[in-house]
Amino acid sequence: MKLTFLGTGAGEGYPGFWCNCPNCTYARLHKGNNLRTYSAADIDGCILLDCGPTAFPNAARFGLNLTQVHTLLMTHPHEDHLVSLQLLWRAVREWPQDTPLEKLSQYGGARFTPVQDLEIFGNAYAEAAVSQIYDEETLKRNHMAFRQIHEGESFITHGYRITPVRANHFKQDYTHNYIIEKDGKTLLYALDTGGYDQDQLALLGHYSFNAVIMDGTYGLNDHGDGQHMSLKDNIEMLRFFRENNCCSTDFRFYVSHMSPHWCPPHDQYVTMLEHYGLIAAYDGLSIEV
Ligand SMILES: [Zn+2]
Ligand SMILES: [Zn+2]
Ligand SMILES: [Zn+2]
Repeated sequence: MKLTFLGTGAGEGYPGFWCNCPNCTYARLHKGNNLRTYSAADIDGCILLDCGPTAFPNAARFGLNLTQVHTLLMTHPHEDHLVSLQLLWRAVREWPQDTPLEKLSQYGGARFTPVQDLEIFGNAYAEAAVSQIYDEETLKRNHMAFRQIHEGESFITHGYRITPVRANHFKQDYTHNYIIEKDGKTLLYALDTGGYDQDQLALLGHYSFNAVIMDGTYGLNDHGDGQHMSLKDNIEMLRFFRENNCCSTDFRFYVSHMSPHWCPPHDQYVTMLEHYGLIAAYDGLSIEV
């Protein structure tokens, strides 16, 4: 699997939109990997992990074309992980590629490429959010379907085996993470997280991972409210994976979903994380799993 980070920031952006603190100022000045947009990821150009405001614009910037995506895995419906706009543009009128410009309707937008069937997987909260965008009939008319997931209940889509894991971000059941398996490789996409209950740790303990991608929002602040993971939590999870033989020989642990107010700018944080055996992800990073 080839996974590309379409964004690695938390909800407030990096730099924060209205903030001139030292970290936000550093990011504006030095740009590059210090700039983070909303967290999302793509696997093999056909699976999208969350559909926040910057997922599609970033894909184009990083040389990816998402028109063939057949699977959207939703972690939860917070606005940094789901916006309606990108899905709504599937519903505009489709025209043949050779339509003369003067024949196009000026209203309602245009699209010249038939949309692929798209299955959207998510929990009950994700389903409620998607139903605010499209009713079931309109979903169907635009070649989409929503499938509700439950923790521990694996399913196979286009040769990928997916197992949802219940996280504790925001409130219990609100967020699900995903174990994704293909061609003997296994990865965990764990945004947003907020830790796991014992039954979900037991589920994770059965796997041998090639890569883990985890929320590290709270960074150096380990006095969080349990909504997100701090560096200390990431280190504890790394210890959990090691102690439970969950690490394959090429195991890598990537930290994503970083806030400017607890995570130093990438230029500094990357070496701090390395010290603990963790890798700081950045927008546009592609990894082979
Ligand atoms: Zn988030
Ligand atoms: Zn700031
Ligand atoms: Zn969230």
